[in-house]
Amino acid sequence: MKRIAIDMDEVISYFSAKCLELFNEEFQERYTDQHLQGKKLMELDARFEKKVDQYLANESFFLELEVIKDSQKVIKELSAYYEIYIVTAAMEFPASLAPKYRWLKKHFSFLNEKNFVFCGDKSIILADYLLDDTPSNLEAFQGKGILFTAPHNVNETGYTRVNNWKEVKAYFL
Ligand SMILES: [Mg+2]
Repeated sequence: MKRIAIDMDEVISYFSAKCLELFNEEFQERYTDQHLQGKKLMELDARFEKKVDQYLANESFFLELEVIKDSQKVIKELSAYYEIYIVTAAMEFPASLAPKYRWLKKHFSFLNEKNFVFCGDKSIILADYLLDDTPSNLEAFQGKGILFTAPHNVNETGYTRVNNWKEVKAYFL
């Protein structure tokens, strides 16, 4: 079976949505995904730089992330034909390791935990495909990189792009 490595934040979990929600509450702002088109959080508002570190230091941050629409269903379907690995960079925020693990066990309980990979630099990953929202991760990857659309990457060109999990399914099945 061919192997698909799947990123976590912004591919199966709504990471930036949660950051916006917490930030809006705290600063009485009304930022939405629309404000984030083509931008990173810090480019939208410099105050995110300190705040994101604070949000992520809280264990409940990762536990409360919403699951991206259709990702559970499609990954379950793909796992009949491909080896699925969830590959997430967790070393910048070591406090995220345990909550990320618990989140995966809760929402992707059909995957074996041996298929969870918590890493630093994703260029070490050997798989046939990498599905990720961050262009630099795809750049360093030796297999076929596929860009999953997130608000910050809408202007990126030069990658095979999928906009949602229905498109992921159509690409692989
Ligand atoms: Mg990501």
